Formats: sequence, structure tokens, C-alpha cells
Amino acid sequence: MTIRFTDSPVIDNHCHTLDPQKAILDPASLAREFYHGMKDLPQRGVHPWRWEASEALRQHIPNLGVVQTMIFQLSKLLGCAPELDAVAAARNSHTTQSFSAYAKLLYQDAGIVGTVLDSSLPPDDPLLDLIPGKVMRLFQMSTTIQQLLKNATSYRELLHSYQNSLDHAVHQHGFIGVKAHVAEEVGFDVEPITFTEDQFAIAKAGDVKAYKKLYLAIFIETLHQCQELQIPMHLHTGITGGLWNGAITNADPFRIVPLLRQPEFIQTRVVLLHGAYPWIQHASMVAHALPHVWVDLSWTTPWSALRLVESWRDAIGVMPLSKLMIGSGGHGTPEIAWLSAKTTKIALQHVLEDNMTLGLLDSKQAEQIGQMILHDNAARLYDLK
Ligand SMILES: [Zn+2]
Repeated sequence: MTIRFTDSPVIDNHCHTLDPQKAILDPASLAREFYHGMKDLPQRGVHPWRWEASEALRQHIPNLGVVQTMIFQLSKLLGCAPELDAVAAARNSHTTQSFSAYAKLLYQDAGIVGTVLDSSLPPDDPLLDLIPGKVMRLFQMSTTIQQLLKNATSYRELLHSYQNSLDHAVHQHGFIGVKAHVAEEVGFDVEPITFTEDQFAIAKAGDVKAYKKLYLAIFIETLHQCQELQIPMHLHTGITGGLWNGAITNADPFRIVPLLRQPEFIQTRVVLLHGAYPWIQHASMVAHALPHVWVDLSWTTPWSALRLVESWRDAIGVMPLSKLMIGSGGHGTPEIAWLSAKTTKIALQHVLEDNMTLGLLDSKQAEQIGQMILHDNAARLYDLK
């Protein structure tokens, strides 16, 4: 009695663009793609993202569980020794010939047929073609506000042009959802507010408190607009990349429930990204209780690599399995999305077979749940034919 997802198609619900500058990576840089912590050589005036790592820190990074998993999985695909140097050399020999063909090789191996892309690239940017399979775009709320704010002379004007550009993105360019950074920009303990014109100039001048209010007001408007456009709102929850940005302790999805459970938002579908790691059970409970909330396990997969079985167990605990999706949070290199899909298939198989052994599920049910999480739920959410 076994189930298998090796050949099952996958839709990655949360991924960023590939970066051709990362086509060739030395072993340390390949490992560092999976490190989302701070570096330990701060540079004055330089964003923490771009700080350098000391020799001592560099020794730790290849020992992340996710890097060790990547090494072993990649060695099997590329036919080399399971060592960082060997897999880096093997991948570089592919990418030297073609970065795009290498990405295709990985996506095919993992069965990734579609990607929901979180990126500010213009609709016709050639970089988008690097991602194999169907690419579905999200409208970025934060970037759009920043751009429009430069020329806006009033809140009314800003909101109007913002709403027009969201409308345009959906109707002219087929964007399928919105991505907001409420946890990072404002924090989750929020209530609907009305924003007044006299606060606008202060927000525009860079006042942090006023900007938060502006962001929140537009977020509330966007929840309504998403409802009209019938597209979901994507929110980072839990880990938001690293612990150096945003209101970290505030990104527990329980904290945004008082807002999301208000009757006016019940018809707006909301996707909690990153599985709210490490609050995965909280995300599952929110999706259990709120009919319009969905969850994806991006970032959690592949980053919690050596604990993926437990992560998936936590996710499937209480929520309807028809609202759970796989994602990666991949960026730069194709290995991240590939590893997420590969390891998710392994973990899901294990978790579902366990439930079969316990006599809780039969193989047909288990098989169907797996396919739903890997592909069918996203296909339904985005109305893919
Ligand atoms: Zn993300």
C-alpha cells in the first residue's frame, strides 16, 4: 500500500524571479542562497541584505539542514558525489551552457508546471521567460504605492491611481492576485482606519507612523477591490524572509484574525504565505475557522528541510485540505523551487502513508489529498483551465 507523487504536477504558489547573475555560483555562494539570516560584517550605510559573512559564519552556512538536503538531492539528479564542491561544479557545468536549460531540467524533474510570481518586473520583461512553465503574476502593493507616491498630490489622487493600476494589471495583463506586506510594513495587530488628507503630506514626507496608516488604509481598500476583481490577497505570515526586517513577533496569523473575520472581508480570499512558520498550526487553525483563508507552505518548504514531515503534519492538522498549497519562496536560483517541490513530495508521501498505516485514510483518499495540495487547489483558486 504505497502512494507516489514523483510524477505529479506542481504549482508553486509563491516564488520570485530567477537571476542570470547567479548562473555561475562558487560552492559558498550556492550554499548562501539558502541562508536567510544576518551576516556578521555590518557595513555602515549598507542594507543588511548586502553585508558580508565572516570566515567563521561561512563555515556554518553549509551546515544548514536545507543546504545538506539540497546537496544530496542535487547529487542524485546530476550524478555526482554528495558534496557541496561537487554539486556546485556539476550545476555550473550545466549553467555555463545554458541557465535557462538548467532551470528547465530542474523544473521538469520536480514536475513544476506553474508558478505564482511575486515580482515587480514589467509585464513584458524578458527575465520572466527564464521561469519554466506557466507564470502567473501578482500585483505588488508596496512597490506600487512607493512609485505612485512620488507624484501624488493627495491621498484621493494616490488611491485613485493605485486602484486604476491594479485594475489595469488584472484586466490588461492577466495578473491573478495581490501581494501585500502588512506584517513587515505595519504589523498584524490592525483595525480598519480612515485616512485623512492632512496626514497625507506627513506620510509623503517620510513620517513612519503616518506612512503605516497610509499603507493600512490602502490595504483595507485593496481587500475590497480584490473582492470585486475576484482575485486573492497574498500575505507574508510568520517568517518574512529573515529576522532583520519588519515587525517580527507580530507576524503570527492569529493577530490578523480580528481584522479578517469582519463580515465585510469574508468574501475576499486571503492566502497566508510561508505557512506562518513557525506558527504553522496557527495558520492551519485560521484556515479552519475563516472560510476565505487559504495557506501555502512556501519558505517552510524547503527551509525546514529536515523537519518537513512535521511541518506538513502541522499544516494538514485542522484546515480543509482543499485550501492548502505548496510554494517555495524561491529567488535567484532555480534550485530553491525545485528542492521545495522535491522534498514536499517526499514529506507528503510519508505523512499520508502514516495516516494510511494508522487506518485513518485509504490510499485513494491519500493520493487525492496529495494531488490537491501539489496542484489542484491552486488551479482551482486561480481558475486555471
Ligand atoms: Zn515570500
